[in-house]
Amino acid sequence: MRYAETGFQLEVDLSRGSIDKVETDPKDTALFLGGNGMDAKILFDRVPPGTDPWSPDNLLIFGNGLLNGTCVPGANRVSVNTIAPVNGLFGHSLMGGFFGAEMKMAGYDRIIVKGEAPDLVYLAIHNDKVEIRDARHLRGKGMYDTQRLIQEELGDKRAWVAAIGPAGENRVMTASIDCGNSSAARTPGPVMGAKKLKAIAIRGTKDVNIAHPKEMWEMCSRLRKELDANPNIGDWMAVDEDDSFHHNNFAWGNARVRRKTFWSSSLEERWRNLKYDHMSRQTGCWNCPKACHNVIKWPNRRRFSYKCYGKDTYHMASFQELDFTYEILGVSQDLGFDSYSTPQLIAFALELLDAGILTEKDFPGMPSDTRQRFYYMLNIIANREGIGDVLAHGISGAAAIIGNGAEKFDHNTVKKFEQLPIKLGKLNPAYFLMIATGEDMAITQIEGSFPQDPIADDEMREEFIRKWVAVPDKKFHEYFRQWKKRDELPAKAMIEITDWNECMHYLDDSLGFCGFVSSFRGQFGGTTGYHVWNMPQIITHATGWEFDKDRLWECFQRNRTLIRALNSRLGLRRFMERPPEDHWAVRNEKYEQQLLTQYYDFKGWTWDGIPTKETLEKLGMGYVAEDLIKRGVLTGNDVTALNDDRGKEQFKEEVLQKGA
Ligand code: SF4
Repeated sequence: MRYAETGFQLEVDLSRGSIDKVETDPKDTALFLGGNGMDAKILFDRVPPGTDPWSPDNLLIFGNGLLNGTCVPGANRVSVNTIAPVNGLFGHSLMGGFFGAEMKMAGYDRIIVKGEAPDLVYLAIHNDKVEIRDARHLRGKGMYDTQRLIQEELGDKRAWVAAIGPAGENRVMTASIDCGNSSAARTPGPVMGAKKLKAIAIRGTKDVNIAHPKEMWEMCSRLRKELDANPNIGDWMAVDEDDSFHHNNFAWGNARVRRKTFWSSSLEERWRNLKYDHMSRQTGCWNCPKACHNVIKWPNRRRFSYKCYGKDTYHMASFQELDFTYEILGVSQDLGFDSYSTPQLIAFALELLDAGILTEKDFPGMPSDTRQRFYYMLNIIANREGIGDVLAHGISGAAAIIGNGAEKFDHNTVKKFEQLPIKLGKLNPAYFLMIATGEDMAITQIEGSFPQDPIADDEMREEFIRKWVAVPDKKFHEYFRQWKKRDELPAKAMIEITDWNECMHYLDDSLGFCGFVSSFRGQFGGTTGYHVWNMPQIITHATGWEFDKDRLWECFQRNRTLIRALNSRLGLRRFMERPPEDHWAVRNEKYEQQLLTQYYDFKGWTWDGIPTKETLEKLGMGYVAEDLIKRGVLTGNDVTALNDDRGKEQFKEEVLQKGA
């Protein structure tokens, strides 16, 4: 019997019309856990480099976290992965809500979609009954209607429907896949569109087996109460009305303008009233005691929900106030847009217009009012009309097509992905490493375990350290003790902090944990939901495998290294690992490059950031090394970055200075 996982994956080839329920190898789960890790293995094994991301040979994988669908509270994230058309690298997205648990109860650990349907279809899954159904009547329909109509067709209001809107159908780079109040943003939407797959409807009624049910139930019951009572858990921005952090510190418009004194108490009061006058309720994801999603009913709009910074992106991109987000967000979601990157894309286009790089002729019939312009832009991008067809490539892609200086306005992307509009005075070295080297393509998916700022007061700092349960090793106490200024910690400490931050996210993404109950929360000290001390016991109770912190850490290293190897094979190299040029007012290129070299070396990667044969073999992935050697990505005799002549050269000056 398989525990926690079902032991089966659903493989659908839309070109052939085939549906296969395939038994998986439990040895793979023991190595890669689930979610992101297993998805990366499948992409590495089955999608050869050179495959066009738009082609039927690309895969779209909905991978359940290992613990999804069990009684573990807050475990519900599905990793939705593919090869991303925007940059040809590993494309990763996370979807919360209920889809993952329903998939597990239908009997599947993941759904792998291959091929391209002859015309628009949707997949209907009810336990073992799986059908590819005609969806031509759903063409051009928004998310809300698609979900409702499919539920009606299936006669099952309890089916969860993950769907794309017109933006996804038209392969817009900023399209997302939505399911209820959750979405998989930032890359899989356009691939789903390319496969002509409008939606996946899923309903499951099976049990999920647990190895130690009694112990598991006791542990999870306790954890659930703790999560519920812990104010650090969940998205407190759903309930806390003070959002000065985003508005004063993040950049407005096309990620350029800081308004450091925007927030005020009268604004806070006004926005609080606006929210509670229009909020129907708060809700959350599968088996989580928190309710992070605010459900808003705005006049003449359909009900929609948001969480976290998602409520700010539209009004900040357009220099408006919260009422504009409330007015437009549901419309944007219905069209199937990601609400993080799309407003930046629109602000980018309007900046090009202001700069004269685009002209009024590019926007025929566009209203003069800013708010109406945003609606206009949503429609032309979703339907690829006129300049909307160019903007559908995302900021980097559009800038390259438009040319004529437009490239300079593409200033907030990493590896062609729009980033959060963070602007800081000074470099935070750990953040430099995370944003430059992250495979997750967004800083929000990497930060979290170590505080973002030091604590100046000695007593308060010691108190924080005493209560900080998530720390995997006492050396992090010391680092925090030594830390006085944001950019002043030895490189070794910064690299180990980055490693820990990464570790938690990679574990969350393979086990299914929401970052709000785990990786984001270690930084606030005290008791957090999940950490490297309680995760092993949960896995043991769920699966029956003996697990400890070291084995868990190795799983993280394996998944991180595999995804890096996959990306190396797809062409990722050192020169691409740069944060947006204006993320920090003060840059120190030499220091950043030295830090990058030391980080690569720590990870067992070459000067170019490719895992060496030895590193891969140590993690049981000799076959990956062989593949990279066969393809000429590695030679087989590669050394890690600091042992490379270029690495030695980089530090020569310092060594000479020290010697003098
Ligand atoms: S903490 Fe919030 S976002 Fe995370 S699983 Fe719970 S309800 Fe969902």
